[in-house]
Amino acid sequence: RRSVKKITTGSKDLDELLGGGVETQAITEFFGEFGSGKTQICHQLAVNVQLPEDEGGLEGSVIIIDTENTFRPERIIQMAEAKGLDGNEVLKNIYVAQAYNSNHQMLLVDNAKELAEKLKKEGRPVRLIIVDSLMSHFRAEYVGRGTLADRQQKLNRHLHDLMKFGELYNAAIVVTNQVMARPDVLFGDPTKPVGGHIVAHTATFRIYLKKGKDDLRIARLIDSPHLPEGEAIFRVTERGIED
Ligand code: ADP
Ligand code: MG
Repeated sequence: RRSVKKITTGSKDLDELLGGGVETQAITEFFGEFGSGKTQICHQLAVNVQLPEDEGGLEGSVIIIDTENTFRPERIIQMAEAKGLDGNEVLKNIYVAQAYNSNHQMLLVDNAKELAEKLKKEGRPVRLIIVDSLMSHFRAEYVGRGTLADRQQKLNRHLHDLMKFGELYNAAIVVTNQVMARPDVLFGDPTKPVGGHIVAHTATFRIYLKKGKDDLRIARLIDSPHLPEGEAIFRVTERGIED
């Protein structure tokens, strides 16, 4: 096992909650309702992973598996320029693939390995792989009780494939998971996302995101084996993720 490295989220408070940032060779799951900032964090990490190590990056490339068509190159440019970087240069190190269904989503992890091999040889190693969002296709395709076991089995394999990728390339794995609005009232415990226990047990870090006033967001670390539970407050602004 190579030494674990960390990528800054852009917020010191959130980094601290995560024990210094998003870790390589681990799955970090951001879950929360629509608009809670999951996709914004993904965009910011795709920029930040490219920074030099002394600025919180890993000088790495990133692969994004986009299942909901929410990747926005303009937003990357905006975040990159806020850091004084050339937006188009930053975009060149971001490899985005749209996943059309859950099978395709899983296939894209295999394809990611080929791409990562190529980029490694070119001296532009992949240090981050993102699945935004992890569950949307699985949820749409597997409806009804009878299919739930199949779904969990497939999802389990998907998460294992992602974890393997992370170990092989010393890359961070970031997945998002949407939960319903007001799950506390309608669906029981808000810290139990759709996707069930397999996601919960495989993810090394699980962060519940909640909207606060204006651009404020609250992050809560759930069930971490290594870190104390706690909360962080950050903002989503025009510049990206900030304190
Ligand atoms: P989700 O958790 O559903 O993925 P997003 O990450 O897409 O949510 O968050 C969307 C929110 O991010 C918007 O409601 C807005 O508050 C904020 N946001 C998105 N783009 C910008 C921007 N360019 N400037 C400021 N805030 C933004
Ligand atoms: Mg989103």
